[in-house]
Amino acid sequence: MIRISNNGLSYYKFAENDFEGTIHGFFTRCGGVSPEPWNSLNLATTVGDSRENVIENRKRIFESIARPEKSLFDVWQIHSTNVLCTDVSRNFAEPHQKADAIFTDRPQITLLMRFADCVPIILYDESRHVIGIVHAGWQGTVKNIVRQAVTEIERRYRVNPADLVAGIGPSIGPDHYAVGENVFLAAEEAFGKERESFFQHANGSLFFNLWQANGYLLEKSGVTKIHYSNICTACNLTEWYSHRAENGKTGRFGAVIALKE
Ligand SMILES: [Zn+2]
Repeated sequence: MIRISNNGLSYYKFAENDFEGTIHGFFTRCGGVSPEPWNSLNLATTVGDSRENVIENRKRIFESIARPEKSLFDVWQIHSTNVLCTDVSRNFAEPHQKADAIFTDRPQITLLMRFADCVPIILYDESRHVIGIVHAGWQGTVKNIVRQAVTEIERRYRVNPADLVAGIGPSIGPDHYAVGENVFLAAEEAFGKERESFFQHANGSLFFNLWQANGYLLEKSGVTKIHYSNICTACNLTEWYSHRAENGKTGRFGAVIALKE
């Protein structure tokens, strides 16, 4: 990953030429106006921070990537497998639609999702000019939202999965993600006999590797070009929000992607 600093904000992007037709970034929590425990570039109004702070933080992000704020399309993320393809930016006068994967083929739209441990997966098809972001926590992972997303863009945009490039962004790493037996049980349907390879027993706990699990599901959906950020949110709280490491008292950072015009 490359770290970019701009206007007091910092974000990471994939270095690979594969994402060349996009503007994308995973914004660190630095450079915003929100006080503790949301310090400081928090993008969620659902975690106790003020609406004014969130709006100012959002404005700073759009300025740093030189995109108009009215290009924004975002959703209410609910750990579902709902996939939304949009031709228009969000109408700020209406409530958010509920979804956990968003796509567009329009260069006038900027997609944004919010994270604090869940896995952001950006997808890009250069030939079809399609971009997207998937939100996969443990629930989205075991429900296989990745497959749902790929299936939907095959249908909607005639994307060939072999043309897709995927980037797995900053999220909780296997070193920090202890889960309950319920997660292991819920993973059976998505992973079958491969399930064991994504869970590891250590120090009396069970650790789930969300990065490799989603990489596997992407491969099963026909995606072969997969890049891993290997950045663990819980390992570096000065740059990332971590719901787990901060006991739920934290903010949400932004993952954004847009097509270059
Ligand atoms: Zn970690």
